[in-house]
Amino acid sequence: MGLKIWLNEGLVDESEAKISVFDHGLLYGDGVFEGIRVYDRRVFELEAHIKRLYESARAIRLTMPMEPKELTEAVETTVKANGIADGYIRLVVTRGVGCLGLNPFTCERSGLFIIASTIQLYPEELYETGMRVISAVTVRNHPLAIPPQVKSLNYLNNILAKIEALDSNVPEAIMYNHEGYVAEATGDNVFIVRNNVVCVPPVQAGSLEGVTRNVVMRLARKEGLEVVEKNLTRCDLYICDEMFLTGSAAEVIGVVEIDGRTIGDGKPGRITRLLRDKFFAYARGKGQ
Ligand code: PMP
Repeated sequence: MGLKIWLNEGLVDESEAKISVFDHGLLYGDGVFEGIRVYDRRVFELEAHIKRLYESARAIRLTMPMEPKELTEAVETTVKANGIADGYIRLVVTRGVGCLGLNPFTCERSGLFIIASTIQLYPEELYETGMRVISAVTVRNHPLAIPPQVKSLNYLNNILAKIEALDSNVPEAIMYNHEGYVAEATGDNVFIVRNNVVCVPPVQAGSLEGVTRNVVMRLARKEGLEVVEKNLTRCDLYICDEMFLTGSAAEVIGVVEIDGRTIGDGKPGRITRLLRDKFFAYARGKGQ
């Protein structure tokens, strides 16, 4: 039996969950989305994800098809209908069906679908060993062209960098902005630790304001760690003591090599492991 998918007003069978070839989400990547985790039947940081989704929509003048409260209920309903205890939700709002041609105002009604399923995380051993990454040659979208806060359906920039990573036989690539400062990984935020200070690039450098990023910053401060948002160069990554990535799917994962240079002692560092543990406990409702 297939999944129950929320499509516009209600649940339908997976086999019925179809959208038009005239949907501008498909024709132009014109839409916004969220990726959200479910832990122990609870939707993680749902309010923060809903808020970001409405802000993304507002920024691109996309009319949301329902109020935040209704959408929150639709997410919860979809999770329950599929009996998801631990999983991943994909919440997508497209510009909707319109004419061929860019004009978004020919789309009368935005499209909504919610998938509650499971997610293929990185293999468990990668959390123990840490991952290798490369610096992508593909420059991150200019933040004044495509605002990095907007989690839009257009991921081509990230996909080009992801291809570079996969061609180099590593799972992730670090993207730099037009000025050469670190922006983010292709689907995760980047952190480094140097001299016990946790550093993360500002959103304006070209990174999504990750929900996981914000939780990890909060947890780190709670541990008494200094956390600073500042521009980072490739050299900062080369000489850091620790590096890790954060994201809804990846959670917190250590990086142990970049561009052939070993980070720290080649294993996920002490602070990375501490924050991963704290995040794990917090997400599963066992932390503060
Ligand atoms: N950056 C990008 C480009 C992303 O797509 C994501 C989400 N997959 C993140 C960062 C991390 O954001 P979050 O913690 O909200 O999942």
